[in-house]
Amino acid sequence: MLAATHAIAGAAIANLAPSPAIGVVAALLSHPLLDCVPHWDLRTRHKNRGRNRVILYSLLDAVIGFTVGFLLIPRTVSPLLLFLTMFSAQLPDWIEAPYVIFRWRFPPFSWVKTIQHILHQKLPFPDGLLVQVILVFFLLLITK
Ligand SMILES: [Zn+2]
Repeated sequence: MLAATHAIAGAAIANLAPSPAIGVVAALLSHPLLDCVPHWDLRTRHKNRGRNRVILYSLLDAVIGFTVGFLLIPRTVSPLLLFLTMFSAQLPDWIEAPYVIFRWRFPPFSWVKTIQHILHQKLPFPDGLLVQVILVFFLLLITK
């Protein structure tokens, strides 16, 4: 999934969770579950884009998710908790980032990379993006 989709899911979870701790853990667990849904992403691992472009696209992806999470999901929790829960929903991708960007091919980065590689189900553009638009729409509906 796009990091943006993970963050928006985290924001929805923050609003629905009965406690902050449950929300943060549920957001983390949502990451592998969502990656099992066939999707399109920026393919930062496979395309030969150069390090700076990979970093730029990845950060833009993450920031778009945080922005949408803050703007569109109703604010029933503190901004700090909302941010923490969105970050938790993206966490496996942040842990994998040094593997991809700095070629740190050792644990825990390599473990997370291996697990994510196994779980990711790809679907080409545009269908793989449409799946995420529908998911985000559904998340916005259930949190309104
Ligand atoms: Zn992932």
